[in-house]
Amino acid sequence: MSRRRKKTSDDAPAELYAAVRKAVRAQGGSALMPLLRRWKQTRSADDALPGLTEGVARFLVRYGTLDAGDDPLAQQRRYAQVLGKLSRSGGDAPGLIAAWLEVFAQGAYGVLAGGVCGDMPRCGDCLLARDCRYLAAGGRDERLSGAALAKDLAAQKPELAAAPEQHRNAELLAFLLTEGKSGSAAVARAEALLKTLGGVRGVLNAGAAELHRLGLKEASVAKLRAMAELVEGWSTEIAEHGRAFGQGRDFYEHFHLRLRDKKKERFYVACLDQKNRLIGEEMVSEGSLTEVVVHPREVFAPAVRLRAAAVAVVHNHPSGDPAPSPQDKALTKRLVRAAELVGIRLLDHVVIGDGDYISFVEEGLM
Ligand code: SF4
Repeated sequence: MSRRRKKTSDDAPAELYAAVRKAVRAQGGSALMPLLRRWKQTRSADDALPGLTEGVARFLVRYGTLDAGDDPLAQQRRYAQVLGKLSRSGGDAPGLIAAWLEVFAQGAYGVLAGGVCGDMPRCGDCLLARDCRYLAAGGRDERLSGAALAKDLAAQKPELAAAPEQHRNAELLAFLLTEGKSGSAAVARAEALLKTLGGVRGVLNAGAAELHRLGLKEASVAKLRAMAELVEGWSTEIAEHGRAFGQGRDFYEHFHLRLRDKKKERFYVACLDQKNRLIGEEMVSEGSLTEVVVHPREVFAPAVRLRAAAVAVVHNHPSGDPAPSPQDKALTKRLVRAAELVGIRLLDHVVIGDGDYISFVEEGLM
């Protein structure tokens, strides 16, 4: 009866080499075939131990095979050991193995510009994501040495271990991005993305350029954009029309999900009936990072159209601090005067920050 061999740490370089070849083959493009033919002639018997290039060293430190704390000579010795072991176990010459690693780590021989684990690692395309130490550290700190970081991970340092709900989010994100075909590598990549961008909110708010930089392909970026819009739509719908609004918190709950991450100020008017039930809302202005210009006429036009008995105005502060500015106070005074003129009650002016709000009524400012 055959028994399955238990995996040991000695398997790691072999897995690394297999993943590197697979990624290079998958992404190398048309230039790869002639290169592979050339390598067959020039590299297959290249038994000389090659020097460790800067790109390969960076990749192996990130992955955890080399220790960043070692001096270059010690790193070269360790590299030679890894190449020797791979050569003995798989049969490829050390020169050939090094060539694969160079293409993967930095792009070389006219193939795979920039590499997979280059200056800007494309972790989203990398088959090593599940076990990569750099990703385990949140895709941030490649100064950490392989050995030291491995020790931290083994000790489950809280800052390196994903919280259970973070892990669940990673599973869900991987499921959505891979359309249900997510394996553990996809979950690890999603976990790294969440750590790097600061959670689900960060992922949904990240710009396309940043997502591309982190290795996401166009289709995944488009899916995340669509998800962000879906969440925004959902947050608009959750406080169904017809609900009565009594205090500042009601307006905060209704608006904050869609406003808290906006990079510009947005100014909304909520229109209410005699019993303060929401009958409509409209964004009347979008401004700069720090200020939105609003004319009272724009605020009351939707209210007149909807025959509202009262309105409340709501806007966000992209800084996250809801403290009203002098401009907010001046605008509120103008709106109070205009409300008296058109005979529509101005219930409140609510400023939304990050997880907090200020109600002009509750603060005694109107
Ligand atoms: S997961 Fe990212 S950092 Fe780690 S080896 Fe792959 S590309 Fe490099």
